[in-house]
Amino acid sequence: MEMKTHDPAVATDLPFPRQYGTELLVISRGKGVWLQDIAGKKYLDFAGGIAVNALGYGRSDLAKVAAQQMRKLNHVSNLFTTEPALALARLMLARGPYKFASVFFGNSGTEANEAALKYARLHSLRTKGPGHDRLLCFENGFHGRTFGALSCTPSAKYQEPFQPLVPGVLVAPYNDVDALKRVLDDQVAGVIVEVLQGEGGLSTMTPEFARALSEGCRKAEAILIADEVQTGMGRTGTFYGSEGVGLEPDIITLAKPIAGGLPLSAVLIPDKVERLIHAGEHGTTFGGGPVTTAVAAKVWELVSEPGFIQRVRQRGEFLRKELEALKARHANVGTLLGKGLLQGFDYTGGEVKDLLSRLQARGLLALRSGTNCVRLAPPLIISEAEISKGVQIIEEGLT
Ligand code: PLP
Repeated sequence: MEMKTHDPAVATDLPFPRQYGTELLVISRGKGVWLQDIAGKKYLDFAGGIAVNALGYGRSDLAKVAAQQMRKLNHVSNLFTTEPALALARLMLARGPYKFASVFFGNSGTEANEAALKYARLHSLRTKGPGHDRLLCFENGFHGRTFGALSCTPSAKYQEPFQPLVPGVLVAPYNDVDALKRVLDDQVAGVIVEVLQGEGGLSTMTPEFARALSEGCRKAEAILIADEVQTGMGRTGTFYGSEGVGLEPDIITLAKPIAGGLPLSAVLIPDKVERLIHAGEHGTTFGGGPVTTAVAAKVWELVSEPGFIQRVRQRGEFLRKELEALKARHANVGTLLGKGLLQGFDYTGGEVKDLLSRLQARGLLALRSGTNCVRLAPPLIISEAEISKGVQIIEEGLT
């Protein structure tokens, strides 16, 4: 692996496909909300592994669970089950405010959404009969890269090279109640939506739209899928982002943060769907293995501790105040977006990627969202002092 001379921690001549670019920073370790590259430089992490590392880095509690489980039992396939998988599913089902009957474990966000879309079609086929198979998604939504999820991710840059996609997908504008009413009828099997569009520009669902979706899906007997891959487990200041906007989903999909950085996703399935699924209709080899589910149970327990989510909400409000002050001082900070610890702003001073490189050079990692938004998704355990430090680095990068 060749190293660039100007930055000893940047790898070039990468042995990966070009989709990830031609040079990447090589990160070697992390602790708390800080990362370190192979040259020893430290970074305050406002990217969180793209909203994965809710509990931060260097967690000996999670490492211990993973190591113990790996020694005890690593994998059995879904021809059998294990104690950690049963325990995690039961923990998930016991949590309110929504009521679910079963959990399907997968390995990634896109796989969870793929399963959810298939369950919506099964439900429609077996309750409404053949033909009521439309899937409805929204502009600027992002649901993943496999064909079903990609077909519900209506951005040309993701979809165009891979046409033809799955047929029968309808697209409506986000947060537009009238447009929703025009398109949502009993031809629709499932509706997939984010309560905060993490990749597509940080728009937040309005309570009016949440109500219209919940009522509209009930009326059309369509399965309402809340894609909480990015927003689930406290990120937006409530355990499920859906709670924060009053959405009443039938299915919730979870992934990114649920297993402390290990690949695991979950589809929370209601009784009305669970009853209709036949043996063998869906599956996966690795999903819900004992190591990932053992770690996930520990993560679930920690995020469910009293005060955890409330602290995320407070930190989110603190971040918002810091960003408001920053906006007042800088013309290049446009509309403030998002909520909880998934926030950001429209950047009006040029290309976001240039700003992000300046921030990286100054020791702050952050993300892009949409075409020109800066997205901040730090570990949920971040302190106020670390938030202030991050915003200070953003300010330096702006000037
Ligand atoms: N859904 C949402 C809302 C996401 O933000 C993402 C990833 O960014 C996905 C689905 C896809 O998840 P994965 O990359 O794990 O397949």
